[in-house]
Amino acid sequence: MRLTERYARILEWFQQNMPVAESELRYKDPYQLLVAVILSAQCTDKRVNMTTPALFERFPTPQRMAEATPEEIYPYIKSISYPNNKAKNLAGMARMLVSEFGGEVPSDLDQLQRLPGVGRKTANVIGIVVFNEAVMPVDTHVFRVSDRLGLTTGAKTPLQTEHQLTAHIPPELLPIAHHWLILHGRYVCQARRPKCDQCGLTPWCRYYGRKEK
Ligand code: SF4
Repeated sequence: MRLTERYARILEWFQQNMPVAESELRYKDPYQLLVAVILSAQCTDKRVNMTTPALFERFPTPQRMAEATPEEIYPYIKSISYPNNKAKNLAGMARMLVSEFGGEVPSDLDQLQRLPGVGRKTANVIGIVVFNEAVMPVDTHVFRVSDRLGLTTGAKTPLQTEHQLTAHIPPELLPIAHHWLILHGRYVCQARRPKCDQCGLTPWCRYYGRKEK
C-alpha cells in the first residue's frame, strides 16, 4: 500500500470514528496545562488529575507558585513519579514565567523549551493545544502507534517520528491527530498486547498485515 493512501485511509477512519478527541488532563488555563503536562512525564493522566485540584487551589497562578520553594510544592505532588525533580522544575518554571514572560505562558516553542521541566514534547503539547501550532508532540503512544500502523518507517527517535508525521498529516488535522494516536495507543493499540481484534484499523495497519502473513 502506498504511504499516501495509508495516511488517507487511517486519517479518514479516525475522522469518522473518533470525531472528538481531547487531552484527558484537566486544566482551566495555559498555566494549569503546562503544570499538568510537566507532571505527566512518566506518569498517568489519571494520577495527575487526582493531584492537580489541591495543587491549583494552593498555587492558582504562576505568581503564587513562583513564591513557593520546591519543598512547599513537594507535598502536593508526592504521589506522582519523580516528585523531587518535578517540584524543583515547577518552582523554577513559575519563577521564569513571572520574571521573563510577565506570568504568561509564551507561545514561542523555543522560549517554552527554556522553562525548567519543559522539553520538546511538552513545548509541542502547549503549542498544539493552546496556540494551535502545526506541530506533533511525540510521546510513547504516538511513537509506537505510528510505527505499528506504518505511518512512520525506521524512526529511531521521537524527533524522527515527529518529522515524518508532520510531513504527511495536513496541518489542520495535527492537533486532533495527536490525540487520536495517543488515545488509540492508550486504549486499543497497547504496548504489550495490541487489541487488534477490536481495532478498526486492521485493513491499513502494517503491523497487522505482517502478522497475518
Ligand atoms: S491493528 Fe493492532 S497493531 Fe494495528 S493499530 Fe490496530 S491494535 Fe495496533
